[in-house]
Amino acid sequence: MHDDDLLMIPGPVEVSPAVTRATDGPPPSHLDDAFIESFGRSLEMMREVWCASDDSQPFIVAGSGTLAMEMAVGNLLDPGDRAVVVHTGYFSDRMATMIRRRGAEVTEVEADPGAAPAVEEVERVLDEQPADALFATHVDTSTGVRVDAERLAKLADQRDAVSVFDGVCATAGEEFRMADWGADAYVTASQKAIGVAPGLCLMVASPRALRRRSKLETPPPLNVDWKKWRPIMDAYEERDGSYFSTPATTLVQGLEASLAEILEYSLGARNGMDARFAAHERAGKAMRAAWEALDLELVPEQPERTSDTLSAVQIPEGVDASVVDSIGAHGVTVAGGLYPGLEDTYFRVGHMGHVVTRPELLVRTVRAVGEALVEHGHEASVAEAASAAEQHIESY
Ligand SMILES: *Cc1c(COP(=O)(O)O)cnc(C)c1O
Repeated sequence: MHDDDLLMIPGPVEVSPAVTRATDGPPPSHLDDAFIESFGRSLEMMREVWCASDDSQPFIVAGSGTLAMEMAVGNLLDPGDRAVVVHTGYFSDRMATMIRRRGAEVTEVEADPGAAPAVEEVERVLDEQPADALFATHVDTSTGVRVDAERLAKLADQRDAVSVFDGVCATAGEEFRMADWGADAYVTASQKAIGVAPGLCLMVASPRALRRRSKLETPPPLNVDWKKWRPIMDAYEERDGSYFSTPATTLVQGLEASLAEILEYSLGARNGMDARFAAHERAGKAMRAAWEALDLELVPEQPERTSDTLSAVQIPEGVDASVVDSIGAHGVTVAGGLYPGLEDTYFRVGHMGHVVTRPELLVRTVRAVGEALVEHGHEASVAEAASAAEQHIESY
């Protein structure tokens, strides 16, 4: 690894210079005035980035994406409740395991690797046996498959079930309109499309989700209890410090810088989240054009279910999984496969967060992947792949 190596895995990702500056210094006290302002502003900006309603509740807690998933499960389900999990890969498995540990019943709606269950199939399952909650992974990091979050959220909304989306590989990159779609919890972590170092568990809960928590019979563990955390979030939003468990102060400063950058960004005539979503769509299209030019196939089967935040690319005939290291030797770190049993058949390239605003970094990634594949005997033109990506970038 060199300092100028590019980190193009599905998290942690490259962070912007503004985020690096904001987190470069001694950690502030959680009761420092400037820190309280950072925390309060971050909460306010989260509602905008999540496209959530004014009466929704953002949470910022030290931790990971896995903790965020656990928090949603613990606050929305009682033992004995019924949940439906839309299964698209590795992280849907984790979600189902957590729900079972909470003592709730799970029905998984499955699909082959690279596919998402049809929304009609999910609808049939919900109609057969009413559920209290519907869980889905917005973008599954193991396959690059994106579910139809809008239709799933609306399905649950019509049945008065809460909908929970694991957005860890999507939030702030893939379009998600929490208020308009009637979604109830959208969870993520700081190190993916949010564009900060790892260490923050982030989520927004809808008013319906909060009402569900207040009716729970079995409270969740104290450290993930929304009831315990809400007064803390309220205090910071009112620009007053408070304490339940120490916030990751340095990371919250980075979060404030990143959310501000996300909301200030513009692309052509688009502003705010529209611009941010479009920049990820541009990156997704540019990368897919390059993979096609390199004669590579993707893991996701359907173009409309293929995510814009990462590419899961099949390793072509005659090449083996050591190509991942060879790509690294060209100065770009990508990730191997993650889907159980298929790990060595594909590799993953994250293209989310800061890099989508720097198209030259995307082209550099295409070149590194192409050159490594050619070294491994794959026949393709790296120049054509780079120019295919560039054409998509210029069309925006
Ligand atoms: C990365 C990821 C997680 C886990 O996040 P951690 O911070 O590693 O715990 C969960 N779900 C999805 C979709 C992810 O991409």
